[in-house]
Amino acid sequence: MQRRAFRYPIYPNAEQQQALAVQFGHARFVYNWGLAIRKAHYHKHGQDIGFYELKRQLTQLKHTPGFDWLREADSQVLQAKIEDLDRAYQNFFEKRAGYPRFKSRKGEQKIRYPQRFKFDGNHIYLPKVGWVKAVFHRPLAGTPKNVTVTKTKSGNYFVSVQCEMKNDSRPHGRGEIGIDLGLKHFAVLSSGEKIEHPQVLRKAEQKLKRLQRQLSRKQKGSANREKARLRLARTAEQVANQRRDFLDKLSHNLAKQYHTVKIENLNVSGMLKNHKLAKSISDSGWGMFGRMLEYKAADCQRIDRFYPSSKTCSVCGFHNQKLQLQHRFWTCPTCKTEHDRDHNAAINILKQPTAGAAGRHTPVESVSDGDGFRATRNAR
Ligand SMILES: [Zn+2]
Repeated sequence: MQRRAFRYPIYPNAEQQQALAVQFGHARFVYNWGLAIRKAHYHKHGQDIGFYELKRQLTQLKHTPGFDWLREADSQVLQAKIEDLDRAYQNFFEKRAGYPRFKSRKGEQKIRYPQRFKFDGNHIYLPKVGWVKAVFHRPLAGTPKNVTVTKTKSGNYFVSVQCEMKNDSRPHGRGEIGIDLGLKHFAVLSSGEKIEHPQVLRKAEQKLKRLQRQLSRKQKGSANREKARLRLARTAEQVANQRRDFLDKLSHNLAKQYHTVKIENLNVSGMLKNHKLAKSISDSGWGMFGRMLEYKAADCQRIDRFYPSSKTCSVCGFHNQKLQLQHRFWTCPTCKTEHDRDHNAAINILKQPTAGAAGRHTPVESVSDGDGFRATRNAR
């Protein structure tokens, strides 16, 4: 079985928005409370508080005088927040993310219902909120397992429905391809094809920068600042949606065309520490692209990021120590092959022995891009 997420806009009325605000607020409280408890426990005892112990303390908290208002929230929504916190810690321990941070009232709001949601043709039922108008622009497939409700910074609402389905219901291609991800091009394939960074995103990013400058000039607490903040948040969401569309189409096409895709296992969070590269990398969405390929392709192989794919001649194996970042082309001194840097790297990625054969993959892997988007992949 595998899992896929389906995302739909929803339109709660004023009363439902109020009800959702209570769920968001209480859930955020529980997340921050849990984080504070975990931190304090670690300081005092030098070890992490267990997940089950934290769940037990939450139940206790709800029956503590002064905290009974927590029972206004759906109890499973609160429990799910403890699970989210646990996942945030796991991501931190496994170096996929930084240390969990306290959630702010001003940020994106998110809750997850593991059960008791329902659908009809154009509504979704959310416990403690009711039947909310929704637009199902593409049909759900498989069995719905949970629903995440998000309120974006600009005040839009959407749900992400995670569904479980049988493996490989979609058609897959044949053969294999190596993919080199880069800053100059978004990707270069071992077939020689180059995929540009989408122009529309480049333009939108300039607009974002302008809006950011405008916001910083507005006086704190003023009505104009609030307007500027909303404009910025709205544009940022549009850019994020366009990027997701681009990555969705590209990963879909690759999975349809090829059976096996091989990509570098980039340590994106590590690279983000290098400030010069940071902006372009975070914008290019490599992490999200890799996760999309992992659940769409019949076989997705990650190549060790320490392998020097750019510096090795894909024809004779010569190792070019002198190759620098600005060298786009080079000629191998041994076999005289002329290389396009990124194309050569993509061929090397394709030629790398795969981890799958050695059984290095864990059987089930669950990932989240922090955007209501989750995918679980089963080993095949
Ligand atoms: Zn060579």
